[in-house]
Amino acid sequence: MNLNRFYRGITQNNTQNHAEISASFRVASEASMLIGGLQKLTLIDYPGKLAATVFSVGCNFLCPFCHNPELVDPEKSKKQPRIGEAELFDFLVARLGLLEGVCVTGGEPTLQADLPEFIKKIKDLGYLVKLDTNGSSPLMLERVLNDKLVDYVAMDIKVPLEKYKKIVGPAVKLEDIQRSVELTRLAPDYEFRTTVLPSLHSAKDILSIGRWLQGAKKYYLQQFRPTKCLDSAYENEKPFDSEKLVKICNGLKIFFDECGIRE
Ligand code: SF4
Repeated sequence: MNLNRFYRGITQNNTQNHAEISASFRVASEASMLIGGLQKLTLIDYPGKLAATVFSVGCNFLCPFCHNPELVDPEKSKKQPRIGEAELFDFLVARLGLLEGVCVTGGEPTLQADLPEFIKKIKDLGYLVKLDTNGSSPLMLERVLNDKLVDYVAMDIKVPLEKYKKIVGPAVKLEDIQRSVELTRLAPDYEFRTTVLPSLHSAKDILSIGRWLQGAKKYYLQQFRPTKCLDSAYENEKPFDSEKLVKICNGLKIFFDECGIRE
């Protein structure tokens, strides 16, 4: 996908394209949760728990370094095979007593209208639920928190707030991101995390994110891995030098109870 061309289109059409993509996922998801992947066992996605990870289809952001183009690129995601809810719940029932939690990730799960009902069915089986979000839908986040449907929220922080539009696309509402940050802090357990790339994040940017989120429980810097990316040009990007990232991370530790690097 040529993101530069896509972004230019968005700018020229005054964000209409972006809104249409988002709306198409919302409409499509009114019938049921769109699931495009299932990882049957993960030891890392849900901190401290044995879990499975469910991948929802569709996202309203276009982070060029996204590792899930098959769930995000509108053309590719149409071709991504779906997993039916019946198949998923058969699997979850069969793993009762073996798995402790389910991570609901994407794409962006909060775009899907029946997310609360979907999570409730998982909770009713007795699983803990972790929700990964880009923070663009604070109303949905508030709903699942109020209904006590999530045990852990992981919110992606892409860049300092003032740089969001440049990275994820111009239609993002910064007030929604800020509201989601506030809501995430109210979750039973939570983390913020940022996938960092030298070409997109200066040390100053990362420090600025630290100040923005200060007082939060956990914040992680995630090393970018140049595998498949939404913008294929990013597959040649170099990740941060490990020593440099450790230094940056050390400078952030005053802001958080827990702060670390995920390789
Ligand atoms: S990284 Fe996350 S928020 Fe960004 S495009 Fe991919 S799924 Fe969406």
